[in-house]
Amino acid sequence: MAPAMPKGPVREINADRSGPFDNAQGRHSEVSAKRSRQVPFVDTHCHIQIEEFDEDRDEVLIRAREAGVGTVIVVGGAGALSTNDQAVHLAEANADLYATVGMHPHDAKDVSAEAMDRLRSLAEHPRVVAIGETGLDFHYEYSPRSVQQEMFERFVGLAIETQLPIVVHNRESDREVEGMIRNHGGGRLEGVIHCFTSDTEAARKFLDLGFYLSFSGIVTFKNAEDLRDVARWMPLDRLLIETDAPFLAPVPKRGQRNEPAFVCFVAETLARIRGIEVDEIADATTRNAWTLFGLPADASVRES
Ligand SMILES: [Zn+2]
Ligand SMILES: [Zn+2]
Repeated sequence: MAPAMPKGPVREINADRSGPFDNAQGRHSEVSAKRSRQVPFVDTHCHIQIEEFDEDRDEVLIRAREAGVGTVIVVGGAGALSTNDQAVHLAEANADLYATVGMHPHDAKDVSAEAMDRLRSLAEHPRVVAIGETGLDFHYEYSPRSVQQEMFERFVGLAIETQLPIVVHNRESDREVEGMIRNHGGGRLEGVIHCFTSDTEAARKFLDLGFYLSFSGIVTFKNAEDLRDVARWMPLDRLLIETDAPFLAPVPKRGQRNEPAFVCFVAETLARIRGIEVDEIADATTRNAWTLFGLPADASVRES
């Protein structure tokens, strides 16, 4: 959902960096206490390449590793085209980071032929594990719907061509996203509906198409009871977790700048509502991430 949030509030959040720093130690022990064995988490969707992290990106990664996050997928296309190159550079420099390349539906109207060529060549990079984020956002409609759909279709084509999974942003466009996957995916398209916020009916359709559903900090929000119902009901073998950092920090960090370490709060909420251990959530979601993104099975235990 990255660029959906206006720039202003993010800068305010960024200014309040003392929170995560001060609480890092307490949060870590609080999480570890509930986990008998340290199955690593995968934050399958964040934007730590963008400028909100320029001052403390290394510390953010250290906190993620301390919180048991073994792998982080840095999602390109969060604003400028250059966020894709930045995502790939981060993945080149860190063994536990991978990148995706795409353009957010908000920016669909600004994707030139040259930009598409650049993305096509970046997609061949060995550290790139998916195409996206792409998709549709009919809530904000920063780009006209027809332009979003045209761009989404091109990224679906690129995903099929490169045999990579696709990271789909979907806001108030369930029917159209489903139609795109069904009509243009050729039955070969794999992927994830990231930051899933739709209802059970939509969930069932995406699951029927073989897609994974990824839950963000929204599932921890007080008023997200309907979303928790979906998360409680859906099969564990299609579940993924993410932060979408710097956006959508989960409770109890809501309002702060989000970061990959906080994915543990998403996992804790999912464990609680499903009545299972956090380790089981870590186990399942990490295995699912390895499967979907084709990560080496030892990725999460490698030293970077
Ligand atoms: Zn998104
Ligand atoms: Zn995003």
